[in-house]
Amino acid sequence: MPRIEAVFRRLCPNCHGEITAGRLSKGLPCSACLPEEPEQADPISIGEALQKLGKYGSYLELSYLERDFRDFSSYFEDKYGFAMSSAQRSWARRLLLLDSFSIVAPTGVGKTTLLMAYAAYRAEKDKWRVLYLVPTENLVAQTADRVSKIVGAGSCSASPMLMGSACSGSSGRQAEHGRPLASLPAVISPWQLGQSLLKTASILGTSSPPQLI
Ligand SMILES: [Zn+2]
Repeated sequence: MPRIEAVFRRLCPNCHGEITAGRLSKGLPCSACLPEEPEQADPISIGEALQKLGKYGSYLELSYLERDFRDFSSYFEDKYGFAMSSAQRSWARRLLLLDSFSIVAPTGVGKTTLLMAYAAYRAEKDKWRVLYLVPTENLVAQTADRVSKIVGAGSCSASPMLMGSACSGSSGRQAEHGRPLASLPAVISPWQLGQSLLKTASILGTSSPPQLI
């Protein structure tokens, strides 16, 4: 009995052209993009095969993301001694895509653990300047201590800073080794804060909403 294979329009993950159901189920691009199926059908091998053929399409982003994800996963495991949970893996992919999003989950799920590892990863591996905002003085010291332990005695370090109304005038306080952001007003709105900080940092992470108004 002849077998009819379904063909889907605009669903090739690389060229957005037609693709068969068989190819889609294997996670492959269409046969026009990749005539021969690679031995290993993982995103990195497929991306390399597409590059060799000069078929630069949307699939390459997926391939690069997978490479970054594996790199970050091994960094996380190396630093903490355990692997990311499924929720953390899902958030890590969004972080690596540079998505701007908030994480809402119960205490103990691993939000802070993940964000600290990600901040350290970007600072250490990509030399990004990362600003990590926390709402209380205790958390500033605690976070700086934990991030410093993650990055170790490497090429970057965590510098705790205190700011907000407590930093104004002569009563202003600054944590040891901290540096004030001179251009910031003493009391600022989250919008002003974001605008000011984004000019100086590659990424901005927060743990709990900062209480700055
Ligand atoms: Zn295609």
